[in-house]
Amino acid sequence: MPDKMLLLKDLQELDQELSRLGQENRKLEAEQAALEGDLERVRSMVASLTADIDQLEAQRREYNQAFAVEQENVRKAEGRLPTIKTQKEYVAVLKEIDTAKKLNKEIQDRIQEKTAEIDSLSRDRLEKEEELAAVSARVQERQAVISGKLKETGGEVSQKSGQRDSLLSQLPLPLRKRYQLLMERRGGMAVVEARNGACLGCHMHLPPQLYNSLFRNGEIQACPHCSRLLFVQAAD
Ligand SMILES: [Zn+2]
Repeated sequence: MPDKMLLLKDLQELDQELSRLGQENRKLEAEQAALEGDLERVRSMVASLTADIDQLEAQRREYNQAFAVEQENVRKAEGRLPTIKTQKEYVAVLKEIDTAKKLNKEIQDRIQEKTAEIDSLSRDRLEKEEELAAVSARVQERQAVISGKLKETGGEVSQKSGQRDSLLSQLPLPLRKRYQLLMERRGGMAVVEARNGACLGCHMHLPPQLYNSLFRNGEIQACPHCSRLLFVQAAD
């Protein structure tokens, strides 16, 4: 096998390994993003419940203020009763007190409703907060594993890229370009074995003269069908 062919074979192995590592990295990064998404989903549920509770509490505060105002009105009206001179005025003030009390009862009902809603949403929020803590723990644990793996594959990638650069630098430029073009166009396989008279890249039969020339350790030959660069095993 020509020396350059040995180089190309090694180069292709490195490229395939680098591509595998790249795929692995992308998978890990996608998993990382999915985990962030899980966390964010629960976090936003908690935030939305908190916003709802805040709004209900603000409404309850308003009712409480209205209640205090009406209570004060009742107190004032009742204070006026002993000073009243006429029966007509007396009845009018009693009616005023009655109306204010009725209004207060309605306000109290509203306050109770708001309190019940707040309690119910607070229970939901507590549940979601517990879920958030559980998801958070699971995500953190998995993130630690993922970043460990990413670090590992990152190291492997830079080591193999270094080896790849050194191999590439030993090839003449036209051959390098030819190899790279074939890698792109032939699904990451530029260098293939020829066996039993056929190219194992495209499985087409090779012209016998071409096939036989591969055993004479001479020039690099390409498959006339798929253009891949051919080599033969010494034992063949
Ligand atoms: Zn072929």
